Amino acid sequence: MSGLNKSFSDCGIAQFLEILEHQAKKFGNKVVKVNPRKTSQVWYNCLNSVPKSLSDRWHDCPDCGVSLDRDECSAKLIKKVGLGIASLKNP
Ligand SMILES: [Zn+2]
Repeated sequence: MSGLNKSFSDCGIAQFLEILEHQAKKFGNKVVKVNPRKTSQVWYNCLNSVPKSLSDRWHDCPDCGVSLDRDECSAKLIKKVGLGIASLKNP
């Protein structure tokens, strides 16, 4: 384990997920885990892939012409994947 994954492990992401799942169940909700692979590279609206480096904070889709903050775009995509509205092809 290295890099960002090790950082998540160090700060107790597993414990956080356990608490999150417990609280969701308590209130009649469920937690859906989404593979984060490619979620920062794919435009949530048309699923067009736009490769970028970590320092690129803005997502510009050449097909739609729409621009959005990278993190907001990723969050919207993760929601769509979690709800089963969209899927990403992960190798
Ligand atoms: Zn697009």
